[in-house]
Amino acid sequence: MDIINILPDSVANQIAAGEVVDRPAGAVKELLENSMDAEATQIDLVVKDAGRTLIQVIDNGKGMSDSDARLCFERHATSKIHRADDLFAIHTMGFRGEALASIAAIAQVELRTRQHDSELGTQVLIEGSHIVSQQPTVCPAGTSLSVKNLFFNVPARRNFLKKDSVEFSHIEEVFRRVTLIHHDLGFTLSSNGKTVYDLKPGTLLQRIAGLYGNAYKERMFAVEEQTDLVSIRGFVSRPEYSRRTRSEQYIFVNGRYIKHPALSAAVERAYGDLLPDHSYPSYFIGLTVDPSKIDINIHPTKTEVKFVDEHALFAILRSVVKRSLGQFSLATELSFDTPEEFNLPPAPKGYTPPMPHLKYDPDYNPFKAGSSQMRMKMERPEEPANLERMESPEPLDCLDKPIPPASNTCLQVQGRYIVTTLSSGLALIDQQRAHERIIYDRLMTQGDSLPPVSQTLLFPVNCSFSAADAELLGELMPDLKAYGFEMTPVGQTTFVVTATPASLKEADLQALLEQLLTDYKGSTMQKFSHRSESLSRSLARQMAVRAGTHLSQEEMQQLVADLFACPMAEVSPSGKKIITIVKPEELLK
Ligand code: ADP
Ligand code: MG
Repeated sequence: MDIINILPDSVANQIAAGEVVDRPAGAVKELLENSMDAEATQIDLVVKDAGRTLIQVIDNGKGMSDSDARLCFERHATSKIHRADDLFAIHTMGFRGEALASIAAIAQVELRTRQHDSELGTQVLIEGSHIVSQQPTVCPAGTSLSVKNLFFNVPARRNFLKKDSVEFSHIEEVFRRVTLIHHDLGFTLSSNGKTVYDLKPGTLLQRIAGLYGNAYKERMFAVEEQTDLVSIRGFVSRPEYSRRTRSEQYIFVNGRYIKHPALSAAVERAYGDLLPDHSYPSYFIGLTVDPSKIDINIHPTKTEVKFVDEHALFAILRSVVKRSLGQFSLATELSFDTPEEFNLPPAPKGYTPPMPHLKYDPDYNPFKAGSSQMRMKMERPEEPANLERMESPEPLDCLDKPIPPASNTCLQVQGRYIVTTLSSGLALIDQQRAHERIIYDRLMTQGDSLPPVSQTLLFPVNCSFSAADAELLGELMPDLKAYGFEMTPVGQTTFVVTATPASLKEADLQALLEQLLTDYKGSTMQKFSHRSESLSRSLARQMAVRAGTHLSQEEMQQLVADLFACPMAEVSPSGKKIITIVKPEELLK
């Protein structure tokens, strides 16, 4: 008895579809790539219900003839490969002639296409691999392909889809990857009737700004290098705009998005200790290498790539990024990571340390215009305090007397530690962590009982987000109101901020809110505590005075007094040590 069957094409296509189109985003990727292969300059993506009900891609590319419009749905129908050799020289995007056949096997597809020199276009309806109709039609030059009811005949796959917000974020990710590399083309994305992105052709930096908001223009350093092996072009984020996740890291090789852990490590390595713990840079880097020097796995959904000369590439990339950080950044000297312990080097034998002297301005008036304020923003690292030049004695013989800390003179060391005396010894206080604790405690009690202290902005600020972030921000709005933020959504992804917490001075609101959302997403993922705790922790971290910020005597004293008024003065909201006490007996040694 013979038991071998040849599968009908429709079944074979369905199986192939499982590889190419595992979710709506997979179809989006194939359609966008086809439009770019067809030399379109404007590509519009329309989705409904995260692509479940509709994915439509409209382009102004070269279009298809009547018979190509039918043929393109056949398996192994492609205009891009003629011989097996072509596989190795391929420069276009898709290359197996499988995408449309696969999509047509698992959806109801409508194709309308017209070549520029034809007067009439053609419309093809195809459903589950069967052509339902083809007829002439009046349509713009180019191609419009609508994929309706994806997986209508594959319930197992349909049921496997995640909720709309998840599927849509996959689509957005595909859209970002494609539009970042093809910044010279125009793209739009609309979802459920609303425009999410409207991207005009432009430079890479303009494209980054179009996707992530204009604030990104100020956050990026350019990287550029041309060597025999590789040419590198792109942007990396300034260290102070690092993020809590690796979500904004893009490397493209020869116009293709790839994942390459070693290259990503090369970029991160270049930042060295400029990044705070658990922070990651954003980067958008395009590499161009001789195609014979790489092996891109030819599976269309794979994003891996092997380089012949990986070590050299790693080294070049790292030093190029490092150079650009060093060239543009004033902050390279400043180390951001705060050590867990304060390590004081032991004094040489027989050495009596000179009495520390402190400098302060007796005429200081905190309410006088122009007097230094605590700054939210990172500043240039100050020169380390010059102990010799300062005067005004405050001998350290008072160690045993309980002294309210606020009245004690403070000394700032390395722009990051405050040294002051307590009855129990010498206290070394991490200024940033201390401030974080103070703000956190205030925010938490404010949310509970007191009404928020808000300041109305002189000039309202527009902040724009990705669709997913905008939705989350909408959800968190009542919580943020409790802190003193006032904001109104305008359109789908933009918010106008009209007021902020009073204690928030000169901040980049766009960056602050983005970080807040990133932190919030991170903390909900780790099932951290309460919403308000997570938000307060993020806000406190962002509002706190940074290491490297010069503090006046009054500011230090206020900070110390405020810190000691906190019930948990010893640890920061994220659990890091704030104070180290050097006991009198240790001082004697
Ligand atoms: P591949 O892209 O690998 O060739 P596809 O199934 O994605 O396979 O597409 C099959 C063929 O259909 C392409 O080779 C191309 O000739 C034609 N085609 C698909 N989309 C478009 C489009 N938007 N504009 C013009 N031609 C297209
Ligand atoms: Mg294709």
